[in-house]
Amino acid sequence: MPSIGATLTGLVLTRRVVALLAGTLAAPLVLSGQAGDARVASSSTPSGQGLVALVGGTLIDGSGAPPVSNSVVLVRGDRIQRVGSVDTLAVPDDYVRISTEGMTVLPGLWDMHVHLLYAGHTNIQYWHRTYTDRFERETMPATALQLLRAGVTSARDLGAPPAAVFATKRRTAAGEILGPTIYAAGPQLTHEPPDWARFYRRGVSGAAEARAAARALLDAGADVLKITDAESMTVEEVRAITAEAHARGRRVAAHGRTNAEIMIGLEGDVDEFQHIGAAADDGGYPPALLAAIRARIDSGRPLYWTPTVGLPLRGEYLQGNRESLDDPENYAGLPALIADDVKTSLAAFSPRPAPVDTIRRKVSQLRDAGVRLLVGTDAGLAGNFHRHAMWQEMDAWVNVLGIDPLATIHAATGLPASALGVERDAGTLAEGKSADIVVVPGDPLRHISVLRDPAMVFTRGMQVK
Ligand SMILES: [Zn+2]
Repeated sequence: MPSIGATLTGLVLTRRVVALLAGTLAAPLVLSGQAGDARVASSSTPSGQGLVALVGGTLIDGSGAPPVSNSVVLVRGDRIQRVGSVDTLAVPDDYVRISTEGMTVLPGLWDMHVHLLYAGHTNIQYWHRTYTDRFERETMPATALQLLRAGVTSARDLGAPPAAVFATKRRTAAGEILGPTIYAAGPQLTHEPPDWARFYRRGVSGAAEARAAARALLDAGADVLKITDAESMTVEEVRAITAEAHARGRRVAAHGRTNAEIMIGLEGDVDEFQHIGAAADDGGYPPALLAAIRARIDSGRPLYWTPTVGLPLRGEYLQGNRESLDDPENYAGLPALIADDVKTSLAAFSPRPAPVDTIRRKVSQLRDAGVRLLVGTDAGLAGNFHRHAMWQEMDAWVNVLGIDPLATIHAATGLPASALGVERDAGTLAEGKSADIVVVPGDPLRHISVLRDPAMVFTRGMQVK
């Protein structure tokens, strides 16, 4: 699993990180390195050990448990050392004490469906033709930093050219660029991609080829595999991919837009589906499909689902309210020419209103069947910016779909870590876990949109906002 592995050596890096962060720091910048080698980039942190105490705010630990008031979170290097309350957990003298009074402390958020290569442009094919050479050095570092500023400290990329996204993953893990912990699929596996999509989708024909492609991707660094358009594949092909991944403790996510691809995915033993396919009059999921979902869950293996409904559910609003598309934060870190290109494309952006009732119905069918929903945004697609996609998705869950805010936060913290099999290392605020922490003003259980502007963001113990 990704870790801060590389030691943050030398002044070059420190200056670079500090420069990137200029003006955004609320407290000393703590750069944590390998265990026992924590470094401090600011002389105002006295200990030199990355010892920080967040004191006083309400804590939501990401496990789904109710909040704890007057909390204390002790961070040591890149790990959470202890969690308690002001009555039960004293703050040692050598810790940098940061007040979280009046705020809520929660785990860094997990966006389970992003595309780091995209930056909101409306024409994907044009984007591929024009900017492929610039993904690794320009767009991906910009979108990764935007995610971090949004409080997203873990992100799963579900479709990108492998060299660029695996390099971005390594560079963020090493601290060379600022971004969330990245879990990357690389290219999507499918039967035969259209020509324009070949550079980020890989065609497989037959079980042997599917198995070989899965193996090659896992060898190259894929944390998860992604299947697209499973209805054009055989069950044997899907099963070859899932068997290869499961043998290595990795998971497989498949598109779930159509009933046919969901059925093949279930038969082929995928772990998770993406998207809710919805037409206004499709009547919801049919009983046979729901029975297959229940049978799978009854067999003892959980089924996860990332509905990615935030963008479709705000389509109608965006038609008449376009100011949010102009927010400079949407374009932060992008070269001016690329940013202008995205803005120009959005002048003609006219999102279709989504069938809200159908989406609501299908999401509640899945929840009733025992599916575990995960928050993911499809960030990067037209008008769906990494800086704002996450809170907007969560706002849609709470205020359009009527999902409980605490359950929504669980689906954006503890549950995603479980879905990826990394729950022992990250996802909740508990002893020994990765110190990925977001502090927001006010109470997200009352107003989920306070997640929009985190007051503080820590990734692996390093404060980046
Ligand atoms: Zn996607």
